[in-house]
Amino acid sequence: MESGNQQIESQNNQQPPLMFKVLKRFNRCRAAVVTLPHGDVRTPVYMPVGTKGAMKGLLSENMAELIDCDIMLSNTYHLFLKPGEDIMEQMGGLHKFMGWNRNILTDSGGFQIVSLGELNSLDENGVSFKSHIDGKEFLLTPERSMEIQNKIGSDIMMALDDVVTPTTSGPRVMEAMERSVRWLDRCIQAHKNPDRQNLFGIIQGGVDDELRKICCEMMTKRNLPGYAIGGLAGGEDKEDFWRTVKVCTDLLPDDKPRYVMGIGYAEDLMVCSLLGADMFDCVFATRTARFGSAFSKYGMIKLRKNEYADDFGPISEECQCYTCQNYTRSYLQKTFRADQSCLHLISLHNVQGLRNSVLNDTAEQYARDFFINYYRDDKNGIPVWIKNALKECKIEL
Ligand SMILES: [Zn+2]
Repeated sequence: MESGNQQIESQNNQQPPLMFKVLKRFNRCRAAVVTLPHGDVRTPVYMPVGTKGAMKGLLSENMAELIDCDIMLSNTYHLFLKPGEDIMEQMGGLHKFMGWNRNILTDSGGFQIVSLGELNSLDENGVSFKSHIDGKEFLLTPERSMEIQNKIGSDIMMALDDVVTPTTSGPRVMEAMERSVRWLDRCIQAHKNPDRQNLFGIIQGGVDDELRKICCEMMTKRNLPGYAIGGLAGGEDKEDFWRTVKVCTDLLPDDKPRYVMGIGYAEDLMVCSLLGADMFDCVFATRTARFGSAFSKYGMIKLRKNEYADDFGPISEECQCYTCQNYTRSYLQKTFRADQSCLHLISLHNVQGLRNSVLNDTAEQYARDFFINYYRDDKNGIPVWIKNALKECKIEL
């Protein structure tokens, strides 16, 4: 009976679980649409983090409408500890559990273990750790990560990788990169739902161009629906940061989405988008929010300031983004401390502005205005690393 149903489902559902269509380009930068099982994602996209299954202070029925969100990131580590994978499976997956019918991306759980849990040991088999809630011991292997993410039912799942900080050097960097490839193969083997869930590999290799190239070459041979660039935004030199992103975007397939993990600052997001990356998240969202600023033609708007309390205009009069069409500076200022939705609306403005400019053939001007205004009050002006990165995108600052 069950296999009969599955057959009907697969006959009705011939479409692959990910399709990627570039609408327009500006040099290396792409304005695209990623079609996933729960709808279209307009890229470049900033994914808010819905830790523990729901974004703080927001009900999911309102969330999509309130913040115009096509895809949300959820942490496997948190979901696994509470409410747990079996409850998730009984409920029919995280979408049903949360009442969220748009897309979800889940991380592998590895990064959260390293940053939150108490790491006991890491070897070829996997990562063993103690829960930060009750001290209970767990072992996360590539197979376990896939099993949990299959039960969660996320639209995009991330492979378990061996992460080292970008400031690590020596043989450990190569070991972690090679292990990430072997773990990816175990993830591919263990993944039960390739017809309806997408598995992304994560490029590692520190800030070593050769290692990154080898990793890109090996992982793209696996012909996955998309790829992430991991192991950055951890205190590395900014020249190393942008060059590593460029090395990877040069080698990753042009017809698949590219996700740069863990960056959240507006300038990093803008540089990576211009270099040809499509998806972003920010693990430091709440910390960044304290400095959250939106870009407008007339300079940066620091929305935490009280001066906007009675300002009922949008961030930017001429901006066509969702935030500017629907929200006032006053609203953003008032919600600034309350929850993450304000930060998301600001990031949405910054990213959608660039996307719209690519579609309107005004991206060069947009990027130039952005950086000139962003650093207008900075006595050192636009940093050299940004000028160097933008030269690669054929923009002279
Ligand atoms: Zn806007």
